[in-house]
Amino acid sequence: MGKERTELLVIGAGPYGIATAAYAKHLGVSVTVVGKTLDFWKANMPRGMFLRSGPDWHLDARDVATFAAYVNMRGITPEQIKPVPLDTFLDYASWFMGQYDLRPLPTLVTHLTRSNGTYSATLDDGSQIRADKVVLSLGFAWFKHYPELINKLPEGSYTHTCNVVDFEFFRDKRVLIVGGRQSAFEWAALIREKGADEVYVTHRHPTPQFTEPDWSWVQPMVRRTLEDHGWWRRSTDEAKEKIRQDFWAVGRLTLEAWLGSRVHQANIHIHEKTTIVTARSLADGTFEVSLNDDTTVNAHHIILATGYVPNMQNVGFLDRQTIARELQTLNGSPTLSTEFRTNLPNLYVTGLAAVQDFGPFFGFTVACPVAARIIGEAVSQSK
Ligand SMILES: Cc1cc2nc3c(=O)[nH]c(=O)nc-3n(C[C@H](O)[C@H](O)[C@H](O)COP(=O)(O)OP(=O)(O)OC[C@H]3O[C@@H](n4cnc5c(N)ncnc54)[C@H](O)[C@@H]3O)c2cc1C
Repeated sequence: MGKERTELLVIGAGPYGIATAAYAKHLGVSVTVVGKTLDFWKANMPRGMFLRSGPDWHLDARDVATFAAYVNMRGITPEQIKPVPLDTFLDYASWFMGQYDLRPLPTLVTHLTRSNGTYSATLDDGSQIRADKVVLSLGFAWFKHYPELINKLPEGSYTHTCNVVDFEFFRDKRVLIVGGRQSAFEWAALIREKGADEVYVTHRHPTPQFTEPDWSWVQPMVRRTLEDHGWWRRSTDEAKEKIRQDFWAVGRLTLEAWLGSRVHQANIHIHEKTTIVTARSLADGTFEVSLNDDTTVNAHHIILATGYVPNMQNVGFLDRQTIARELQTLNGSPTLSTEFRTNLPNLYVTGLAAVQDFGPFFGFTVACPVAARIIGEAVSQSK
């Protein structure tokens, strides 16, 4: 098996990984990217999904290969991307990679270890790559959140949205979805459209409004990080909480207007301000679930649209002795320098796992160019 050597190894070829690799490459860093391109978007989001983000969010730290430039080049009309279809975003990402001649190795890192100041990654096929610097752009799938209520659910009754993207199984069936954000309602609409008999949605907060959300204030706030990398961490707890609330208010309390008519259907039943009280398996293989609004739902399956929470302990390929045990974390997230560097030399973390130190925007593509710029510059300047 070969043992390749690279200056920078980027693990994960999602939006953050390719954005960072492209900019580092532009700065003259020798970069190897390992990961199946946009795998989370292809394998863990349903076909037919639309993005919440618009055409102004893009991947290029140089503001050149933007989504707008791609749209222009392809001759796509504004109507075709309002909202942006998942496939269009995938095509943009692939065009973006072409602009920077990025060719990720389409495999997985199965083990990452550290010794004598360098990192060594073992790939799925057993080959190895040695790297001076590593960026972990691992995104979402490692961080599926299972709420405590799963303790009430019978074994085999539930699946996280991340693992339910083929809806054929739900034809002529009844489904209960736990969650109240975009994915809960988008899954509800798509599952119903696939021919489910009944779809029930339960969530603790009031049902969101289906109106055009206003994300316009987010971009300037994210860009502020370029001038002042540490503004988020220096903000008071109250100020952070206010921004989080505003951010989640857009994400949680309003949902895209185009989803409303698809959700307000006779066989989609929304139980706002409810939780599951009990659940049991029935002899016919279905599940009887009682909610605290005195409703009883009989469902063939329960889908948890309960989101993602970073926890580095979940990342199983990090060597225990030399990385996982040495990595400084707070509440499961790595503690990062203002350049996204962990306490381990030349090991960087970006995307969702950086949210604690950089703000909630870093869980969305809006912050890809900013993270890419900061990490790219840090990597190109570090020895
Ligand atoms: C249903 C849903 C809808 C969303 N809609 C939007 C939206 O409209 N707009 C938006 O901006 N954001 C949206 N998001 C958030 C979106 O997922 C993030 O913006 C984006 O994925 C972040 O990019 P990333 O590169 O950090 O993560 P990811 O896209 O998760 O990419 C991480 C990559 O790392 C790879 N990886 C992990 N471990 C390894 C390993 N050991 N070896 C090799 N590769 C590895 C994974 O395969 C994956 O491809 C949505 C999320 C969900 C769940």
